[in-house]
Amino acid sequence: MTASESTSLIPTASIEKARMLIEGARSVALVCHMTPDGDALGSMLCLQKVLMTRGKRARGVVPDMPPASLQFLPGVNSLMVASSNEGYAAKFLSTVDLVICLDFNDAKRIDRLAGGLLSSPAKRIVIDHHLNPVLKADVLISFPEKSSTSALVFHFLEGLGWLDDMDVDSATCCCAGMMTDTGNFSYNSNDPDLYRILSVLVAKGVDKDALYRKLFNTNSESRIRIMGFGQYARMELFPDHGAALITLSRDELNELHYRPGDTEGLVNVPLSIPGIHYSIFLRQNEPDYVKVSMRSVGDFSVKELCEKYFGGGGHMNAAGGEYRKSLDATRSRVRAIIESTPLITPKK
Ligand code: 5GP
Ligand code: MN
Repeated sequence: MTASESTSLIPTASIEKARMLIEGARSVALVCHMTPDGDALGSMLCLQKVLMTRGKRARGVVPDMPPASLQFLPGVNSLMVASSNEGYAAKFLSTVDLVICLDFNDAKRIDRLAGGLLSSPAKRIVIDHHLNPVLKADVLISFPEKSSTSALVFHFLEGLGWLDDMDVDSATCCCAGMMTDTGNFSYNSNDPDLYRILSVLVAKGVDKDALYRKLFNTNSESRIRIMGFGQYARMELFPDHGAALITLSRDELNELHYRPGDTEGLVNVPLSIPGIHYSIFLRQNEPDYVKVSMRSVGDFSVKELCEKYFGGGGHMNAAGGEYRKSLDATRSRVRAIIESTPLITPKK
């Protein structure tokens, strides 16, 4: 692949407008979505570090606390956490010259920061890979076909000619984001471009093996017990419909000392059973509030199910929503949905 091919993803006009906005800004805020995951934090921390290396005043803002499992990411301690200082974070967004939004395209995804962002006079760059952007931007870099925002940040920096300013820490954050959103290159990962980027990041000194252990093979006692219990005692299979359902109640989670992040990936487990094409996980967060997570393989879209029945959305193979009823009521509804949903040409 030639250099011009590799940098051609983002149109030159967008790159040049973004360059002008960044160079003209005295201060820059970077923002990612609430309950930030590895891609949200990785893309934000990578770009923040490069901008700081280039002498910019750049500060990342997260709506709420990054999970303990991602506290190892270089630079995470420099982030402003809006839930700890709400008024200050919103005010900060209104005083900077430029806000760069990463891994979301709808102000609803930043919760308490939405008002501060939408009322800010700052210029706005959005870099994201979710479908149907609604957030207005001076520069919109939206590629839903790309598997992570972190890969888009790499392209962005490459297009700007700033890759030399990416050090091992910022490369590690970028790599963590790409690994998170592809399950360590196990889904959405047939794009050769991913491996070109990966080779650049590893050449910069990223220890990918260590990152794998930290991101995918580090568990707490409570997580191991909850994952085991969910699979052993709370999994229902619907073989005729190619579906699986796992439910965990508030009482069960409390008994097993649940911490945020402990059920991450549980919804994916039933997909390893031949014939199961989609999987649903219900976590009762409050007596009348259930978080719904869905995953699928092949061309069965769980995004539509989440939109239609649970006021949510997401991607074809990974989506979520919520239901403001008891766990029993939610479970009954999900069973009825599974039993009435035809499985369309599933391909594994
Ligand atoms: P998870 O199952 O990991 O919570 O979410 C998977 C994906 O579904 C997320 O990356 C996000 O795109 C989408 N998602 C999860 N929950 C919601 C929700 O409540 N509303 C919308 N619109 N999307 C969601
Ligand atoms: Mn992402």
